[in-house]
Amino acid sequence: MSGLSRGSDNAGRHPPGPPAADAAQLRSIFDALLAHHGPQHWWPADTTFEVMVGAVLTQNTAWTNVEKALARLTQRVPLAPAALLALPEPELAELLRPVGYYNVKAARLRAFCRALLDADGEPGLAALGTADLRRLLLGLHGVGPETADDVLLYAFHRPVFVIDAYTRRLFARLGLIDGDEGYEVLRARFEQALGPDVPLFNEYHALIVRHAKDACRSRRPLCDGCVLRGGCAAATPDPA
Ligand code: SF4
Repeated sequence: MSGLSRGSDNAGRHPPGPPAADAAQLRSIFDALLAHHGPQHWWPADTTFEVMVGAVLTQNTAWTNVEKALARLTQRVPLAPAALLALPEPELAELLRPVGYYNVKAARLRAFCRALLDADGEPGLAALGTADLRRLLLGLHGVGPETADDVLLYAFHRPVFVIDAYTRRLFARLGLIDGDEGYEVLRARFEQALGPDVPLFNEYHALIVRHAKDACRSRRPLCDGCVLRGGCAAATPDPA
């Protein structure tokens, strides 16, 4: 399998340009993952605001912990920006305890709610172009590119490809990226190779996460049963 960028420089690193063969290669990986795992139905939330809250809370924690925190929140108040802001910050933090770093995340969530209200709510944000909305999100307290792009893709259905640690691990093992490229470099490479396609980006990111958790684990990956094994530069025998 060739690299995600065609060829590599003298240091063996992949240059940032979009390679001609990327689309077919990435589509074939997507097809294999989809056939194996099936649709993932992301994002697991009932409302746009719940997607946004989940994106803030899921930083550095498992989704099961986010679900626990959301359940605690919704038992106490309606899940809406004004209702969350009306909670005293220490109480909000206590409700968020299951997600870890709950004081930090309470402050981030409050900043997020304030920005949402300042922008006239979800319709105000939805009216912004993708670049402006991304800039606004990245300007919020504690919101980095991965969280911003989760919100853009899963809450506002914008064609941005989310890059996370699972994406880096899987595609580095497949030999398609180095894995330590800058966030924007990788995002541009995936987006340029695949073209703007919200449903594809939605499902692809979810499948990457699923595959990285189920098979391409950080330690002792389950390569023997992996659907990507045939084209994987790092395939190893399953541990006994
Ligand atoms: S063959 Fe192994 S290392 Fe390669 S993608 Fe599959 S699980 Fe990951």
